Amino acid sequence: MKYPNHKMPALFLGHGSPMNALENNSFSKTWELLGKSITQPKAILAVSAHWETRGTYVTAMEHPRTIHDFGNFPQALFDIQYPAKGDLELAQKIQSIITKTQVELDYNWGLDHGTWSLLTQMFPNADIPVLQLSLNRDLSPKEHYEIGRELRLLKSEGILVLGSGNIVHNLSKMNLDPRSKPFDWAVKFDEKIKQSLLESDHQAVVEYESLGEVARLSAPTPEHFLPLLYIIALQETEERVTFPVEGVVSGAISMRGVMVS
Ligand code: ZN
Repeated sequence: MKYPNHKMPALFLGHGSPMNALENNSFSKTWELLGKSITQPKAILAVSAHWETRGTYVTAMEHPRTIHDFGNFPQALFDIQYPAKGDLELAQKIQSIITKTQVELDYNWGLDHGTWSLLTQMFPNADIPVLQLSLNRDLSPKEHYEIGRELRLLKSEGILVLGSGNIVHNLSKMNLDPRSKPFDWAVKFDEKIKQSLLESDHQAVVEYESLGEVARLSAPTPEHFLPLLYIIALQETEERVTFPVEGVVSGAISMRGVMVS
């Protein structure tokens, strides 16, 4: 059957502050509900903004460590462990289905906060194997998208591909005053991407840099935007895009989530 019932959705989530792993707020509550509403995946492949490499790697260790890749946060955040297992066989499979670039098995990384800050809320039992695929710094947005296309068959095998980043992510412009309003450029860029996704205009999303100034301010570096490309690349003709989470926080961080199902 071409579209078996057990086909998994694909999901991009804006992770925002690592504190979302601990807090019970509107974002973390939605992530929790998403975890409950999705059929339990056989495994999760996460593409996180926080693992950039030269070359492309997939984690292959049996027990990926929980990486606390941040500073200046409460001890409670450093105490979080997400003891999900890895899956060597799946890592090897991913290595073989990606042909656009050479993929190496990785035994050093683990789960960074881009991945576990979401998963502690979505799947708190940590009883689903989790792998990460790195973001190769040497590839163009189009090449990242093309790798995503090659991952499509994972969905019909019960594997959840999870992109973790933020569509708008400009730490230097962030305003932590809770009364602060989103910057116009942040709203414009976030809306423009939303519209392109609703029109299934993937090319416009891949070529986001052509939006000029709003793109330069919203994605001053590419790593928080690129995980989105892996997720939209998984969209089949019959599938729709929905937005389980929306909102720009601290003026310059879009928390928009994108679900393909
Ligand atoms: Zn981040």
